[in-house]
Amino acid sequence: MRRYSAFAIAREAARHHLGWERAWRSPTPKAHYDVIIVGAGGHGLATAYYLGKNHGIRNVAVIEKGWLGGGNTGRNTTIIRSNYLQDPSAAIYEKARSLYETLSQDLNYNIMFSPRGVMMLAQTQHEIRGYQRTAHANALQGVATEFISPRRVKELCPIINIDGPRYPVLGALWQARGGTARHDAVAWGYARACSDMGMDIIQQTEVTGVRREGGRVVGVDTTKGYIGCGKLGIVVAGHSGVMAERAGFRLPIESVALQALVSEPIKPVMDVVVMANTVHGYMSQSDKGEMVIGGGADGFNNYTQRGSFHHVEETVRALVETFPIISRLKMLRWWGGIVDMTGDRSPIISKTPVEGIFVNCGWGTGGFKAIPGSGWAMAELMAKGHSPLAEEFSMTRFREGKFIDESVAAGVAH
Ligand SMILES: Cc1cc2nc3c(=O)[nH]c(=O)nc-3n(C[C@H](O)[C@H](O)[C@H](O)COP(=O)(O)OP(=O)(O)OC[C@H]3O[C@@H](n4cnc5c(N)ncnc54)[C@H](O)[C@@H]3O)c2cc1C
Repeated sequence: MRRYSAFAIAREAARHHLGWERAWRSPTPKAHYDVIIVGAGGHGLATAYYLGKNHGIRNVAVIEKGWLGGGNTGRNTTIIRSNYLQDPSAAIYEKARSLYETLSQDLNYNIMFSPRGVMMLAQTQHEIRGYQRTAHANALQGVATEFISPRRVKELCPIINIDGPRYPVLGALWQARGGTARHDAVAWGYARACSDMGMDIIQQTEVTGVRREGGRVVGVDTTKGYIGCGKLGIVVAGHSGVMAERAGFRLPIESVALQALVSEPIKPVMDVVVMANTVHGYMSQSDKGEMVIGGGADGFNNYTQRGSFHHVEETVRALVETFPIISRLKMLRWWGGIVDMTGDRSPIISKTPVEGIFVNCGWGTGGFKAIPGSGWAMAELMAKGHSPLAEEFSMTRFREGKFIDESVAAGVAH
């Protein structure tokens, strides 16, 4: 595949843009692959990419029931940070964040990584202590964060009302190299690189069953027929429980809809990401000028991908206290994605009871930021049977009581 470059743009401009190739092929499935990944979201595509790049495994298919990136990957608010509390989490999220720094160059695809800085507001005494504790933990983990004063918050984000009537801003946990990236571009960039390595991305094809022989996976049934495989990676986020059942085991996962909304585009008013967990809402401004706003999760399990009025009302009401400037903005659209929640709010990257089947799920409300690190670890686990980054995230931790409690860092904020 030809590289994208300034020279390529000039060349194509001169010939009326008739020479661009398709970014990825749409092949007919082969009868057998060494590895099949179910789910062409960011995590599935990143797994395939690092299988090829780091381990030389290229006879790979990624099978997607809809269109690639059409799940949570294309529905999230794109916040990237690594200021988690527990050591295994900080390790994998910081690995991901550091890979994001050079991902555009690695993939030769502009994923628009924007390390504009992320602040998590402390609006109660309890939050001050919690975030100071996280800042200390991050210092020990080698993750660059700091607890900053209300004055510094106001300097970094002048549109914040720090003297809010109910919840004044008392400080913030600040990660200067956190930020955002363009979610579709992350999926598209990985897909293009996978296709370039000879991997098959098979869209509009649902995996409907998993075949086993002697306790080992041998292939999958799909809406385009049976396809054999040596190893199978299940990377389907909100449908993990459904796929696990098809494969013959159970996962400690619940699926709920998480919602987001965007405003009409306006002139630049903020160049950082702000999360206000107490009032519950988070906001950044997209390059188009829309205010991108994250809302809450439904309080009941479901598989819907839509928004609801009461969430919009609650989220906007909460944010208006902290950002009075948005009170007169029109909201343009809102939507939902099906997120996969574990009890300790940490992911599962694991072998399963079925030989040859691996699962990567449980990223819940905050897995976009983890995509490169998660793909790196999952690929290593699938190729070698072991990955230091994934070790603590085995599904056996729920049986053994070795939880990685990130309910505060993950919450429903990102
Ligand atoms: C509204 C919202 C806001 C969010 N905000 C953030 C944020 O700011 N920062 C952050 O870090 N994270 C955020 N997240 C979470 C993040 O989006 C997810 O954790 C991440 O995108 C999960 O990626 P994935 O590749 O695992 O799943 P997905 O992108 O959902 O991909 C899974 C794919 O599997 C496919 N699939 C399912 N079943 C089958 C089957 N049987 N056969 C074939 N294909 C199948 C689906 O169609 C889907 O495309 C947010 C999520 C939502 C919904």
